[in-house]
Amino acid sequence: MFLLIGTVLPFEIRNSEFDIRYWGGAGNVMNGFKDKKILVTGSTRGIGFAIAEILAEQGAVVGIHGRDEGRTAEVAGTLTAKGFSVFPVAADLGNPDEAVGLIKRFVKQAGSLDGLVNNAGGGKAVAFRGMKLEDWRNTFSANLEAAMLASREAYVLMRKSKQGCIVNVASIAAHGPGKWMGADYAASKAGLVSLTKTLAFEAARLGIRVNAVSPGMVATDMTASLSEEMKQGLGIPLGRLAKPEEVASVVCFLLSDQSSFITGQVLHVNGGLWM
Ligand code: NAD
Repeated sequence: MFLLIGTVLPFEIRNSEFDIRYWGGAGNVMNGFKDKKILVTGSTRGIGFAIAEILAEQGAVVGIHGRDEGRTAEVAGTLTAKGFSVFPVAADLGNPDEAVGLIKRFVKQAGSLDGLVNNAGGGKAVAFRGMKLEDWRNTFSANLEAAMLASREAYVLMRKSKQGCIVNVASIAAHGPGKWMGADYAASKAGLVSLTKTLAFEAARLGIRVNAVSPGMVATDMTASLSEEMKQGLGIPLGRLAKPEEVASVVCFLLSDQSSFITGQVLHVNGGLWM
């Protein structure tokens, strides 16, 4: 009995310290990312915004990225008003030049780059028989090529400083049939998982870590059109969609020193939808 308590209790204590220090509570006393320079793509709303907010709360200097200049400046402004160190960098990631330029512009303003989150992306539920090559390419361009180009620019810089973290936001659709999205979306996210592992393997000897998260269904603009009935019909074992913060906290874990021996992995955040 004693032995059992002795082994279980410290684990629980460690977990609660972890929660308080790194992910909120206790009046935000944590500063796990103090002065770290991190760019989060697609951070004007949804999962990206939640990631940016957690990082900024913990002392990071965060690049808020979106497609529209006015909207990006507005979102960065709301976080600056809370006392956080953030700044806007707008770019259309469907344009390869802008994807490359995004990292250069971030570093010009922040001075260096410690972390990159390739979160921007999206797609539609398109039946395969109606799939147009142009749409396929557009999805790949935003979901996979932009992540490759931004990661390549980031990796060149991280190699010099021999440190850095990249986290890619993939999807449950990457690991099986894209049941709720088109084949373009699922295939581009599967490519993102492959990119994650291949770059992680190459970068590991330099101390650079590359990981991914694969969300299931998350309550953001992407799923806003689902009716309550459709949500129940998804059969999510935990019985609901994820909140954006529940994905964001896992991304932040992968960016943090708490995951210092994790690379080339995909963490699934899906409420048990895929096991
Ligand atoms: P969202 O639509 O709320 O946000 C997507 C963000 O990406 C926006 O800021 C948008 O401006 C940006 N973006 C998209 N295409 C862009 C482009 N070409 N150039 C610049 N910015 C672009 O969606 P979300 O749910 O927060 O999605 C974030 C990520 O999570 C996406 O990669 C998405 O595929 C992934 N994901 C979402 C879900 C979900 O259920 N919501 C599930 C699995 C994966």
